Amino acid sequence: MTDSNAQPGEKFLADAFAQASTPALMMSMIHMTGDIGLLEGFVRPRRPPMLEMQGKLCAEDQAHVRNQAIEVTREFFRSGASAQLDLADATVKKMLAFTVGLDDMEPLYERVMSAELDLGGTDPKRVEIDPEAVQRSDINVVIIGAGMSGILLAIRLKQAGIPYTVLEKNSEVGGTWYENRYPGCRVDIASHAYSFSSEHEHDWQHFFGQQPELRQYFNTVAKRRDILQSIEFAATVASACFDEQAGNWKVSYEKAGQQHELRSSVVISAVGQLNQPNLPAVEGRERFKGEQMHTARWPENLDYTGKRVAVVGSGATAFQMTPELAKTAEHVTVFQRTPQWMLPNPGYHDQVTEGHQWCFENLPGYARWFRFLSLWPMTDTGGKRIKVHADWDDGGLSCGPDNKKMRDILTAYIESQVDDPELLEKVVPQYPPFGTRLLQDNGSWLTTLQKDNVSLIAESVAEVSETGLISADGQEVEADIIAWATGFKTDRFVWPLEVQGIDQQRLDDVWQPIPKAYLGITVPGFPNFFCLYGPNTNVAHTTNCIFIAECQVRYIMQSLKLLIEQNHQRLECKSDVAEEYEQRLSAALDETVWAYHNVKGFYRLDSGRVVVNMPWNAADYWQWTSEINADDYIVS
Ligand code: NAP
Repeated sequence: MTDSNAQPGEKFLADAFAQASTPALMMSMIHMTGDIGLLEGFVRPRRPPMLEMQGKLCAEDQAHVRNQAIEVTREFFRSGASAQLDLADATVKKMLAFTVGLDDMEPLYERVMSAELDLGGTDPKRVEIDPEAVQRSDINVVIIGAGMSGILLAIRLKQAGIPYTVLEKNSEVGGTWYENRYPGCRVDIASHAYSFSSEHEHDWQHFFGQQPELRQYFNTVAKRRDILQSIEFAATVASACFDEQAGNWKVSYEKAGQQHELRSSVVISAVGQLNQPNLPAVEGRERFKGEQMHTARWPENLDYTGKRVAVVGSGATAFQMTPELAKTAEHVTVFQRTPQWMLPNPGYHDQVTEGHQWCFENLPGYARWFRFLSLWPMTDTGGKRIKVHADWDDGGLSCGPDNKKMRDILTAYIESQVDDPELLEKVVPQYPPFGTRLLQDNGSWLTTLQKDNVSLIAESVAEVSETGLISADGQEVEADIIAWATGFKTDRFVWPLEVQGIDQQRLDDVWQPIPKAYLGITVPGFPNFFCLYGPNTNVAHTTNCIFIAECQVRYIMQSLKLLIEQNHQRLECKSDVAEEYEQRLSAALDETVWAYHNVKGFYRLDSGRVVVNMPWNAADYWQWTSEINADDYIVS
């Protein structure tokens, strides 16, 4: 790996840099030398599309950068020089714009991305609360759920010294990444961006981590941040009710068959959006004599080798699982009601090479810039592609010019993989791209559907028999195993938890017919109650749900700061503020592809109202949640 004097050798670096991102290497060279001359050189990255980590540089320019980086890196390690990470703001701004092919980055984006980069290591998303005020205060918190967002909030509360308890129904942290263990399960957001901004040194083995890696990541972070002793595992919360007289919340939960109760001044729901399996009410489901399960309840060690497996559904889960099942199953039959759009990502299953991992761990700033480059393309341009143009008429197949461009690219990608016209007709979606989740694909889905041991039935399931499934058009399929890849119940939030606010009004009632919360976080009539990943806070076109969770956690910490430092007890969102937000939200949603007449799916209710997704750019949400506006609340 190294020369005899323990410096990284030329060959080692050449191998290590072969997979490295060249714009990130360029930035690392600036950190190693302090010389910003590179920003004026002839190699200039261009605006990257999604998943492009090389700044669209030609092979020659990439080779030039890699060679230069070998020299600079060798000299850096030889000389023992110190890295210069904490550069002047003006320099960082230039570097930000340069790496993504811009002359200037908009000031808001500069602020958002500088905070993400955190070159100075100051953890700018942390909210400082006066420790003496915390000592004086009797504010305490119950968090429901120890998934990705619950862990993050617990870390922030611990840092601030605010007492808290996390109630988690599972026996481990991780939420969705603990529960989903179906074959092929992995994250479809780049792992280096799908990780906490303050917990970034994790050594991902894949660019899109597999479920065990994600599960391990959240466990590692929880352990390192020492929050495990504040988590009550196997504790299923039944209700959280505001006790007006006592001025606090009564949280009831079940653990090991016993009922328990906790009192807290603040309750935070961190239960996620995708955790209640949707098992469709198909006739005869209980009749089946083989093994059947929802994909989020995959039995440990289920042996499907040599078996006939029926997969119901063709969404994100089926898309990842089917290729894996087909490797050893005797036969896999997929029941597809609606085909999915897929985004070409040849490196989707790629491993991080040992040499590249060395770059993440040893090259000054490299990991930070790689993370930024993973985040940026979705932050910058996603909005245009989901916008509905009122005068656009493509027979419902696309909803505007940018969306149509995307449709053409993605259709050509599907066509390039399928010769059979009958199959092609089944797999090209007849609705606009982005209407449902765009799935990362390295070709494995369509390759799998064309294997001899795989069949696609483009029909829904009408009935389950003792021995298999019957499709809506009467095709009978024998199966040993039925995997219900039928998604989650997303029409009700925080459900089935019973949450009661002032005057015992039930959140589930208040959220009929539309679940809504100010900024997706607070609800009038429910003092000191906050949601993480609440209504309309999923992002399908901009950044990712960890970025959004970090915004929400910062906002909640600002709220607690307001209560604690100003010696208040109670904070409740004003109705007119929530209503004004709802007006803005519904107007913005109406202009998105998810609300388009020809789109269905779990982002919206049967009524057509989109309740899962946020319509705005993540940078706007970042700004709106960066400081709590006390005027939005009744504080006492
Ligand atoms: P999904 O996208 O909602 O897909 C459910 C599938 O089941 C769809 O094909 C749906 O058909 C079908 N279905 C539902 N009810 C049915 C019925 N009664 N009869 C026949 N088919 C039925 O669910 P998912 O695949 O579990 O994914 C949900 C979300 O989880 C994703 O969008 C993503 O956010 C997340 N996820 C992420 C990852 C990842 O990051 N790696 C992996 C998996 C899931 P229709 O489309 O016609 O309704």
